[in-house]
Formats: sequence, structure tokens, C-alpha cells
Amino acid sequence: MWRKGWREHIWSAIDQPWDLIIIGGGITGAGVLRQAVAARLKTLLVEANDFASGTSSRSSKLIHGGFRYLRNKQINVTKESVREREWMLREAPDLVTPLSFLLPNFERYHSPSWKLGLGVMIYDLLAPKWNHRKCSPAKLLEACPFLNAGGLVGGFQYYDAVMDDARLLLRILREAVQAGGAALSYTRAERLLRTGDGQVCGVLLRDNLSPDGRMVEVKAKVVVNASGAWSDEVRSQLGQPARLRRLRGSHLVFGRAKLPVSQALTLFHPRDGRAMFVIPWEGATIIGTTDIDHDPALDKKYLEPFASEEEIRYMMEALSFMFPSLGLSEKDIVSSFSGLRPVIHTGAATPSKESRAHALWEENELITITGGKYTTFRVMSRQTINSVLARLGKPQMVTHQRIFDPLPDLSSFSPEPLSIAYLAGRHGNETARLLAAAKQGELEPIGQLPNVWAELRWAAREEGVEHLDDLLLRRVRLGLLLPLGASELLGRIRTIVQPELEWSDERWQQEEAAYLQTWQKYYSPTPDSGRRGLRSN
Ligand SMILES: Cc1cc2nc3c(=O)[nH]c(=O)nc-3n(C[C@H](O)[C@H](O)[C@H](O)COP(=O)(O)OP(=O)(O)OC[C@H]3O[C@@H](n4cnc5c(N)ncnc54)[C@H](O)[C@@H]3O)c2cc1C
Repeated sequence: MWRKGWREHIWSAIDQPWDLIIIGGGITGAGVLRQAVAARLKTLLVEANDFASGTSSRSSKLIHGGFRYLRNKQINVTKESVREREWMLREAPDLVTPLSFLLPNFERYHSPSWKLGLGVMIYDLLAPKWNHRKCSPAKLLEACPFLNAGGLVGGFQYYDAVMDDARLLLRILREAVQAGGAALSYTRAERLLRTGDGQVCGVLLRDNLSPDGRMVEVKAKVVVNASGAWSDEVRSQLGQPARLRRLRGSHLVFGRAKLPVSQALTLFHPRDGRAMFVIPWEGATIIGTTDIDHDPALDKKYLEPFASEEEIRYMMEALSFMFPSLGLSEKDIVSSFSGLRPVIHTGAATPSKESRAHALWEENELITITGGKYTTFRVMSRQTINSVLARLGKPQMVTHQRIFDPLPDLSSFSPEPLSIAYLAGRHGNETARLLAAAKQGELEPIGQLPNVWAELRWAAREEGVEHLDDLLLRRVRLGLLLPLGASELLGRIRTIVQPELEWSDERWQQEEAAYLQTWQKYYSPTPDSGRRGLRSN
């Protein structure tokens, strides 16, 4: 669908009048595009970098009610979130899958069991779904033999859901484009255009891939600002004061052999009691997240957020407490990743006490939708599109509008050991074409990962890959899941994708060098080491 020449095709007709321009290609912008297309609005989404390259590829990968929000008494956020979780489990079952969580209770938590039990019970009541149970210490140790037995007083098992954030977004975006929307990556909304009386009426766009940085003024009846943690930058052009508290959250990735968990675990950090998760994901295990104020000075110096040494220490401390017998050290970390939460600033004393509710503001006819969670993207996008429709004098959206296209019948495909369901969840109605495009041996899995080689060919051919990091960090997640950013596989990856991308040998070498540098700076196990002297928050 995003075949060679797709960007030029959109750019060649970009200066037509649009009903709606969306700034930001994260999950919020993608959700708004999906709903805008359903409402038959002529819509263009622009993303300054790669689709999903902001926070929406750096989450904890959970579609969840947020057990920790219950602890903070943010019951409405939890209620809305568990309902959205249930909807996604029904509508996108191969993309969003149930995940069992163990919630062990330790003497040192000083938290009576009835209190944790009440939490999981309220969680289920909000769904509504009765899906939790009490566990004895023996049951917990049977489910997770490496769990710290010292002071373990029992606990609970409950359910949430897990997904691949970048892939979920790409599926929504692709289906929106197939249904008539336009989405451009590497296109920055440089400046808002305004009428004589100051109302927003379009954007000045810059092509971040063209060597001369071509720019064009594009008019739209409505502009939506869905630029996540960068929303205040866009609003500041209207003289509006900052309203976000940008909180950084980091994760560490471990090989499953080093950190072998078959269910997720919720823990409370021994230092400050913050809730954190250990999650089995895509054949690996991730731990996260931290939650700290992000120093704006870092943005001036670095292109992407990264985990500081202190954050890594903090997460390793949590692992030593939970799994002392595993003797994990920083040498076992495969990669790390960090994202910026766009949280509405309410003045809470600590980052984790800030509400995760979303907000919609209309300022000089610019609609900004921000805050919230990945899990609540549908609620956020529906509210946004209804504001757009009200502005255009059109009827409101119906609430049962489909977001995901139904999956095609793939029963005639059974190439073992390939998991058709896994591919179908990610690629939806393109799955049969992906399978047909595979060359010999490309339906084999990549090592221990659930991915197959054919996904690389397909992404290079059809998924708008402009740089090697788009492919290895977001279309497939090899850069996060394999040691050294999957550098040992680059030879075979090159054989598959270089002809599809029509890159010369020189271009390949530049891309490879740039990718490895990006990985080292922002995704390596300890990206902050070697940056001593810089403030670590
Ligand atoms: C560490 C962490 C863990 C999380 N875990 C979870 C979780 O498990 N479950 C959950 O539900 N939520 C989770 N969240 C929250 C969730 O990830 C975010 O709420 C969500 O991804 C935000 O999406 P967004 O589209 O609003 O922002 P983004 O994904 O950041 O998208 C905004 C986009 O706008 C682009 N942009 C900015 N300025 C411009 C411009 N001028 N022109 C064009 N484009 C521009 C950016 O490049 C960016 O790609 C987590 C967040 C963090 C940080």
C-alpha cells in the first residue's frame, strides 16, 4: 500500500483544501484519522518522523485498566480503560491478547492481603468480568519458581492484555489509508496558518526527507493537534501557556532465558512502593517503567529520550528484589527504550500521582487532544472527531463504529511453524499478500522470535519504510529483542530488503551506520553510560 513513490503521490496533490489535517502520527492521530475517514472527511495526517516513532512505540505494551491508577483513586480512568480493553480483546483478538498477571504480596509491602484483593476485585467489577483468584505462596512459586520466597505472604492472579504498540498503530493507520485517508511520514507541521482574526486555518508543512526541505502551505477547515508530548510546542504558536508535564518512562529488555517468566508480574518497588511490571513479550521479557520529570535540556541535545543510569539502577534493584536467585546484572540487558508521557499537569507532588486522564482543548479553532493512554485511544479519537463534526455542522459519530477491519479467511494457509494468527493480527487484510510475497525459507521464524523473515520483505515493500530504523525498531521489533540491535542478522536482512527498497550499496552502508548509531545512543542496554557529566534526569 505504501509502495515506492507513495510520498510523491501525496505531495503532488497536497495543496488541495482538506476538511481536516491531523498533526502527529502516534496512536492518537491514527485513531482520529480512522474515525475521520469513517465520517467521510477528506483528511491528511502528517508525522514529523516515522509513524509511531514518538511515545506510541515505547509503551509498556499493555492494554490495561491500570492497576496503579486504582491505588491513586483515579477510578474513572481505570473504568474507561478496562472497558476499552474488553472491546479490543473482542474486536482485535489476534493483536490484543489476554495476559495473566501475578500480584505477589510481601511482608515488606505492609499491605494487608484484603486491600490488594479489593483492588483486583474492583478491577474485575469495572470490566465487568470475574477473572481473578487468590494464590498461596506455594501456588505463586509454582507459577514463578524464581520469585523471591522471603517474606512472600501470598497474592493474586488477575488478567489484563498485551499487544505490540507500533504494529497496532500501523494496522489502524493502514486500514484508514485503505479506506481513503492520507498519511505522510517525515512531514513536519512547521507552523500553524491563521486567518486575519487569528483562527487556525491550515499548516505550513516541511518535507523532512527532501534535500532542499521543501515547504508548502496547506489549508484545512479544521486542524487537530495530536502531537503527544509535543502538543505544547504547537499550542505555543497561539500564545497558549504550557499545560503538559512530560514524564519519561524507561524499560529494560532481557532474553527469556535470563529472565524466564511465563506470566506477567506486578510489583511494588522496594525503594518507593511504585507499581512496576515484568512482562513476557514477543519471546523476551521487559521490565518497566520508571516515571520521572523529563529535563527539557535533554531535548535540545538529543533526538530521542533514553534511559539514564539512575533509571537502569532503579529497575535492576526491582529485579534483584523480585528474583534474587537469578543474579541478574546489567550485562544481561539486551536493550532499553524510553518514551515521554504527555500528562496533563495538575500540580501533583510526584509524577506517578498525576492523573492519566485525557484532555481536549479548543484554542483559536485548533483542537488539541492529548494525555490519556494508548488503551483509551478510541475514546479520545471519538471525542475529537465529534468536536470536528460539530465545527463542520455535521451529525455526531455513532458510538459502535468499527475501528479494525474484519480479518479475512486464512484457513487455506497452514505453513508450519508459522503462526497465522500472529501475522493476521498484525497485518489484517494484507496477510494473504504478505504470505504470497514470501520467498523460499522466509516463512521460517527469526530465531526464537515469533516473527518470520517474510515480514521484513513485506515491510520494505509495502509499509512506508524510509530508514533502516523504521524497519528494525517499529515494523518488526528486532532492534529491541535481539542483542546488539540484531546487528548479527544485518547480512541476511540486507539480502531481503535492499532490493525491495532499491537502495544502492552506498545508501545501505549509510543507513546501517546511522541505525547502529541510533541504537547505541538511545536503545543500547546502558545508553546513558559515557554521557557522565550530563544531568541524569
Ligand atoms: C514509558 C511509557 C509506558 C506506557 N505504557 C502504556 C501502556 O502499557 N498502556 C497504555 O495504554 N498506555 C501506555 N503509555 C501511554 C501511551 O503510550 C501514550 O499515551 C500514547 O502512546 C500517546 O500517543 P500519542 O499519539 O498521543 O503521542 P505520540 O505517540 O508521541 O505521537 C505524537 C507524534 O506527533 C509527532 N509530532 C510532534 N510534533 C509534530 C509536528 N510539529 N509535526 C508533525 N508531527 C509532529 C511526533 O513525532 C509523534 O510521533 C505509556 C507511556 C510511556 C511513556
